[in-house]
Amino acid sequence: AVALYDELTQLLNRRGFKQVIDQQLAHQRRVGGGVGLMLVDIDHFKQVNDRYGHDVGDKVIRHIAWNLRRLVRDTDSVCRYGGDPEGVIIAANTLQHAIEALSIPIFEEESLSVTVSIGCANVVNGLIEKALKRADEALYESKRAGRNCVSGRFEAPQSVYSLPKQAHRSRHFFRSAKQQN
Ligand code: GH3
Ligand code: MG
Repeated sequence: AVALYDELTQLLNRRGFKQVIDQQLAHQRRVGGGVGLMLVDIDHFKQVNDRYGHDVGDKVIRHIAWNLRRLVRDTDSVCRYGGDPEGVIIAANTLQHAIEALSIPIFEEESLSVTVSIGCANVVNGLIEKALKRADEALYESKRAGRNCVSGRFEAPQSVYSLPKQAHRSRHFFRSAKQQN
């Protein structure tokens, strides 16, 4: 059998993700609604590895993975929400703040915190690769904006065929305000 789960985190791997998102797209075709996804990336993670070593890095990844599972509804770090952009952004914001608030135990008497940057997109006309690409662009946008924030690139479902080229590239663009504290 081919592995559907990542060994370190027990989250769905790329292949598992493909299966899940195919199922969700099929379900969505039946019942209506949209599929959104977000890419979550730990900020400055190399510094964690450099400072504490790879094993602690692994521990932090596992901890974040477990918490993502706890914080989202059903899948993994790339997850599904209702179709509306605002809903995905609100969910991503909640996630970002929840991760930031975690205290991750790394040694018996030491904990650390990390932040994540998130890029969101919706799947339009079943085109998963395109949605991933937009989510990745949005993630890069979040990194460039200073990290620890959420960006999204959403397209209207009919835009691929009916809108002029310029307009459908990024019909809606959201970036959350960075947390003030
Ligand atoms: P950025 O804020 O731009 O995301 O900076 P970053 O340091 O987090 O950079 P990036 O996301 O590009 O790199 C992730 C690093 O995570 C690189 C790699 O050494 C490390 N890494 C990837 N997979 C694992 C893993 O399974 N375990 C550990 N310990 N480290 C990993
Ligand atoms: Mg990173």
